Amino acid sequence: MWGYADGHCDTIVKLLEEKKRLFRNDEQLDIEKMQTYAAPVQVFAIWLDPKYYSSAMRQTMKYIKFYYSEIEGNSEFIGHVNSFADILQNRREKKISALLALEGGEALEGEISALHIYHRLGVRLITLTWNHRNQLADGVAETGGRGGLTNFGRQVIREMERLGMIVDVSHLSETGFWDVAEIAVKPFIASHSNAKTICDVPRNLSDEQLRAIAQNGGVVGINLYAPFLAADREADIEDILRHIYHIISIVGEDGIAMGSDLDGTDHLPIGISNVLDVKRIFERVEKEFGIRVAQKFASENLLRVINQVL
Ligand SMILES: [Zn+2]
Repeated sequence: MWGYADGHCDTIVKLLEEKKRLFRNDEQLDIEKMQTYAAPVQVFAIWLDPKYYSSAMRQTMKYIKFYYSEIEGNSEFIGHVNSFADILQNRREKKISALLALEGGEALEGEISALHIYHRLGVRLITLTWNHRNQLADGVAETGGRGGLTNFGRQVIREMERLGMIVDVSHLSETGFWDVAEIAVKPFIASHSNAKTICDVPRNLSDEQLRAIAQNGGVVGINLYAPFLAADREADIEDILRHIYHIISIVGEDGIAMGSDLDGTDHLPIGISNVLDVKRIFERVEKEFGIRVAQKFASENLLRVINQVL
């Protein structure tokens, strides 16, 4: 059985919008399918559709409430994680570990006390921006802005590191990225981003960015959204391997992880339709790099960062 630790999925948002449940559903990730892995760890992100930006905190509360009702309703199979010790406890009880994340600092509504309250509500990772500009920084789609971190964004990062929350730079503008690299003291991650050298789209990372993440002890999570794997054709598992091969060549075998983006897209590579198929990627990595690298990629590298930061 493969270990499994994944830095990003949009399942909570998808399920509430579609009125479906976490134990079993016909989307891309559920408890039943995750039980085919050993001691799985999943980061559940709360992504806000821009239509909710005017009521960002209120909408975030709805998702957080739904997250806890699904976790607590399935408490014999899955447990929320506030600390690394909780992951070890869940492992002993043969439960899935769930981490709660915010995708986009909009949810803070520019208020640092909101960060403290989200921490108390169990949020342990924040993707600083989505694609647009927010109170923390510019997202990657603000191509005319050249904006990096705001003063508030810097304050948020300092407080996140102090509280024990993982800083996530996926979706962040390049200027913002280098601001984070400069001020981060703890490892930061790109939870769901691939290599620009292999697929040149704005959401992927340059080799210099990959190196900076690894130098801080962070990880890059492989994103399964097909257009971020191959821009000119339908991506398949070999395209995923191409990114993994390149990222490992730049950051080494300790800097890569999974960041599936499951339930964030219907456009997955040929051969991947849900979380069950992720083990096919692990098997290909094992064939290419051996079992140790495959285990690090499948779970150990992301767990190391969680252990260091939380
Ligand atoms: Zn995303």
